[in-house]
Amino acid sequence: MKDNIIDLIKVALCNDDLDILPKLTDNELRILDRKVEQVAQEITDTRVCQWTVEVYNHGFPYYTTACGQSFEFIEGGITENNFKFCHGCGATIEEVK
Ligand SMILES: [Zn+2]
Repeated sequence: MKDNIIDLIKVALCNDDLDILPKLTDNELRILDRKVEQVAQEITDTRVCQWTVEVYNHGFPYYTTACGQSFEFIEGGITENNFKFCHGCGATIEEVK
């Protein structure tokens, strides 16, 4: 699928001219549909999962999560690894130190 499909859709909707959109295959439409759903879910999902540092192994934090999981990074922590969502529940991570 073309990377700029979202921009094309915006232009088409603003100009009320859907004919400028490329013809998408059924598979491309399914992928697009999934991505739109993901984005919509991220926008409306306000759940938070607290990750608490239990110990520091070799200087790096070992976390337990509010949803009952645990996680350890090989290097750095949540911020350094750009982690935003909990692998256990999908909520936004809130670090508790
Ligand atoms: Zn969680």
